[in-house]
Amino acid sequence: MDERGRMSRRGLLQASLLGGVLAGCSTAPGGSSFDAGPPLVPIRARTDRIFDIAVCLRPFRPAGPRVDTERLGDTLVVHNYGHGGSGWSLSWGSSARAVRMAMQASPSEVAVIGCGALGLTSAILAQRAGVRVTIYAREQLPQTTSARATGEWTPDSRVALADAAGPDFAAVWEEMARTAFKTHRDYLGLPGTPVEWIDQYAVSDKSPQSQSVPSAPPASSASPAMDFAAYSHRIDDLTPKWRRLPADATPFKGAAVSRGEIMIFNIANYGHTLFNDFFIAGGQFRRAEFHAPWQIAALGKKVVINCTGYGARALWKDETLTPVRGQIARLIPQPDMRYGLVYRHVLAVPRRDGIVVQSFEGGEMRGYGDASETPERAEAEQAVMTLAELFSPARWRL
Ligand SMILES: Cc1cc2nc3c(=O)[nH]c(=O)nc-3n(C[C@H](O)[C@H](O)[C@H](O)COP(=O)(O)OP(=O)(O)OC[C@H]3O[C@@H](n4cnc5c(N)ncnc54)[C@H](O)[C@@H]3O)c2cc1C
Repeated sequence: MDERGRMSRRGLLQASLLGGVLAGCSTAPGGSSFDAGPPLVPIRARTDRIFDIAVCLRPFRPAGPRVDTERLGDTLVVHNYGHGGSGWSLSWGSSARAVRMAMQASPSEVAVIGCGALGLTSAILAQRAGVRVTIYAREQLPQTTSARATGEWTPDSRVALADAAGPDFAAVWEEMARTAFKTHRDYLGLPGTPVEWIDQYAVSDKSPQSQSVPSAPPASSASPAMDFAAYSHRIDDLTPKWRRLPADATPFKGAAVSRGEIMIFNIANYGHTLFNDFFIAGGQFRRAEFHAPWQIAALGKKVVINCTGYGARALWKDETLTPVRGQIARLIPQPDMRYGLVYRHVLAVPRRDGIVVQSFEGGEMRGYGDASETPERAEAEQAVMTLAELFSPARWRL
């Protein structure tokens, strides 16, 4: 949390772990600044309501995403990959940079390799710039990493390491984040709700009266913690402040509670909307798998935008791309449950296509360097049972 009451998801998750969401938060002592918000509906947190467990690998590069150009014979390749845990959030901003680079070659058509968040947004922005676009990809969006994301506005989540990002990267990141934020706003209020704002509650087991912040717990990962870059303070004017709520203002009994407002992406519908927009504008899709850059040059296109995410590690031999494994589970949607929640090591996001439940025990190092995509049901059940405890009569005011 910064001095103005803003909190990145990283800050929020850590503060929640510490029971320290209260410290530094703006207070809402029950006076005019406190708005009660809509009544909260409990999450039906039962393990038999888990209908999906999905694992994906964040395409993390210590130096930050690669957005630059390279010549392959007559083809200009614009790279646009390696966005770590921020790919959806930064998509429009990063793709706007990539398309600007592509348009410098004055193409009349562009090939985009990849059909995840970065591929689709690059393709749509290239169409808006006036060129014909064909997407080539092994998988369409529902099968990609992008379809398995949590779906929150998290523009600096595992986006770079502080000591590996170049001196200019923070400013580039800010430009990407601001451009992306503005473009996500264009998808608010559309049928199917691809993007929406929700309230998110951070609930800690500390008593509501407590003001003290315990010292940080020891890192639970065996590997040494890395210094992930944090830039959210640069855009703290974009999102509302977190506020501490008065005791008894919510149904969470004996807990310290803070509330913020966050932007979320309903991934199924966002992807569907983007795909429709792409096809309506005359886009073409070709299923294709590339094993070496020369196969991309052989397409014979003047300009290619490379949005292959973690796939760029094998395709472009980019050994700096590091997998950061993440798993989400989805509970059957509850249309009347419209708030996000952080409790102990668990995050719940009320997406329209399922309530996403994710454990973040171990912090940002969780899954670092782990390329296993095998789902772990026990992890998903443990996270749901943690939520079940919070909604038990002992903790939840009926
Ligand atoms: C658990 C988890 C939660 C996340 N939560 C969030 C979040 O809340 N907010 C957020 O902003 N980000 C989040 N992310 C990060 C986000 O999911 C990624 O940054 C993003 O999906 C990367 O998108 P992409 O388009 O680069 O890659 P992908 O979605 O992986 O798409 C790559 C495309 O390239 C194609 N491809 C790859 N290699 C080849 C090849 N050799 N030949 C042909 N085609 C190829 C693939 O088929 C695919 O179409 C999360 C990630 C994880 C793992």
